[in-house]
Amino acid sequence: MSWENNVRRVVPYVAGEQPKISDVIKLNTNENPYPPAPSVQNILDNFNISKMKLYPDPNAEVLINAIAENYQVKPEQVFVGVGSDDVISMAFLTFFNSQRPVLFPDVTYSFYDVWADVYKIPYQQIKLTEDFRINPDDYKIPNGGIIFPNPNAPTGVLESVDLIEEILQVNPDSVVMIDEAYIDFGGESCLPLLKKYENLLVIQTYSKSRSMAGMRIGFAIGNEKLIRYLNDVKFSINSYTMNHLTLLCGAESLKDDNYFRSCTSKIIETREDTKQKLAELGFIFPDSKSNFIFASHPDYDASIIFEKLKARKIFVRYWNKPRINQYMRITIGTPEEMNCLLTALQEIMGELNR
Ligand code: PMP
Repeated sequence: MSWENNVRRVVPYVAGEQPKISDVIKLNTNENPYPPAPSVQNILDNFNISKMKLYPDPNAEVLINAIAENYQVKPEQVFVGVGSDDVISMAFLTFFNSQRPVLFPDVTYSFYDVWADVYKIPYQQIKLTEDFRINPDDYKIPNGGIIFPNPNAPTGVLESVDLIEEILQVNPDSVVMIDEAYIDFGGESCLPLLKKYENLLVIQTYSKSRSMAGMRIGFAIGNEKLIRYLNDVKFSINSYTMNHLTLLCGAESLKDDNYFRSCTSKIIETREDTKQKLAELGFIFPDSKSNFIFASHPDYDASIIFEKLKARKIFVRYWNKPRINQYMRITIGTPEEMNCLLTALQEIMGELNR
């Protein structure tokens, strides 16, 4: 059919399943098991629906000012979007506009190659080492930009700020994006490097550490000039990305730092406990500094364990892809949820032995 010759054809990103059945233990999309800061409830309770008649603030000032204050940067250094997916997608479109390939790891967030394809950006996937580490020397080649998550997903491996700086030092002509979706679970942010490198863009999200995946808030912090370029593209596509309520809830949630720290600490504690118990069951995994563990078992097939967990209404994430098809990515839930998971794993391994 002729019209089909002109279609932009893409193989879309596949998001983790949001099961419709009840009583599931949902450890498949790295959501936070705890609710958002309690005062966010007041915003919802007091929201006047007549506000919905009006367009929201296209400049998202309430939220941008709150983020700027929280991270001690100027509001002109902050860009917000509908989840960090929206922010990263805009950043690909704005900054990755070269004939040279954009570089990112072979094992990483599986949305990067989808954005590169949809925007027709050339890219090269750089092989992580055998133990899923980044070798900074691999990023010392001509390129049209660099992006990777730190900690990486789905491995959970954290690289040092020094490693990021080493990559920045040799790439002054490319925008380097560090996707810090999971940085609040024990990693050191590279935000301080913004003072030295005008080509660095740091991206974070409310979806994990701030328990607000359902509100869809992500943000980027960078040099004022970078943020201006991002806004030029955003305002050429959709001025009103953030709705009234989201702006208010996002700003409110930053006010309660104690609550934020208590939730992330609980998750870190549960993660460390889960690591120990998984190791006792014979699982191996790269050391995670995120809210998930990327686990493999030398004696059991990951896809079989994944299906058997699902049959028990325990959802984890599995990819049938080269290098990682013997791993499951397990989100850290509450201690009770992790105990259910560990009991189920023990039972499944027992069944498979018979
Ligand atoms: N970056 C990474 C590395 C992720 O794992 C995710 C979660 N899927 C995102 C970005 C996007 O998250 P969100 O759009 O919810 O902010």
